[in-house]
Amino acid sequence: MSRPHPTLTTGSDQGPDLPPLREVIARHGLGARKALGQHFLFDLNLTRRIARAAGDLGPGTTIEVGPGPGGLTRALLAEGAGHVVAIEKDERCLEALAELAAACPGRLEVVAGDALAVDAGGLGVPPRRIVANLPYNVATPLLIGWLKRLYEEPAAFAGLTLMFQKEVARRLAGRPRSKDYGRLSVLAQWLAEVRLLFDVPARAFTPPPRVTSTVVALAPRAQPLAPAPLEALERVTAAAFGQRRKMLRQSLKALGVPPAGLIAAAGVPETARAEELDVEAFCALARAYEEAKG
Ligand code: SAM
Repeated sequence: MSRPHPTLTTGSDQGPDLPPLREVIARHGLGARKALGQHFLFDLNLTRRIARAAGDLGPGTTIEVGPGPGGLTRALLAEGAGHVVAIEKDERCLEALAELAAACPGRLEVVAGDALAVDAGGLGVPPRRIVANLPYNVATPLLIGWLKRLYEEPAAFAGLTLMFQKEVARRLAGRPRSKDYGRLSVLAQWLAEVRLLFDVPARAFTPPPRVTSTVVALAPRAQPLAPAPLEALERVTAAAFGQRRKMLRQSLKALGVPPAGLIAAAGVPETARAEELDVEAFCALARAYEEAKG
């Protein structure tokens, strides 16, 4: 005989009246699956801290990727999110999320599916913000997709508040001449201001991952830091960082056009290495490459 569902309330503080998350997980058989990057957060203080970091959640749409059993989702609702759209790939979580949605009429919409296949920039009404404890196995491709969406439409997202493994977070914020600086740093900082907010230790998750995590805020720029065609920028950074120890006159040969002309047109020293160029210099190279390839 199945147990009756607990009563969920819509009080201003979503925490106390909802059943404990551990009970929700046990009742719905939501043992964490590694293949889905499942590391759950149970501490409402921590999830509320993440939700607060996203700013005013009242207007527009808060998009959450991977709500799982709904820990961060509860925090978003408790912090005043007017409308949450939560995209979850694991069908086992849908019943638990439906209970949470029923407790907050009209405030939580659950989309069942793969977030990689969803155009988050078309969900709900603007302003749209994404807040998520991301599944680590697809965190980088998800972010690249959202950044490309921002390139098409700078107002697509008002902000992104995302948890990554610390190493990825450091790459996002990496500065020239540091070991963290790479393709992801250039793409992210070209389109958004990146701030590392705070670390979350592995023990805060169930089950604990092997690494520390970091919450990152990306504030989309009204326009990219410097003009450049996206595809050309991606190809130039791939070539340059593909051989990051080599000088540009060598590494840019991978582009299939003579590097000397690109380097001269961009006004960068031909002896420079990828990690010495700032974002604007990469944009200049991308414009020169676009011109040269015709
Ligand atoms: N938000 C919950 C929390 O903080 O406790 C769970 C976070 S857990 C790190 C990542 C979640 O993303 C899991 O619920 C997992 O099922 C979901 N997920 C994994 N891959 C996904 C995908 N491609 N699209 C949507 N959700 C995905």
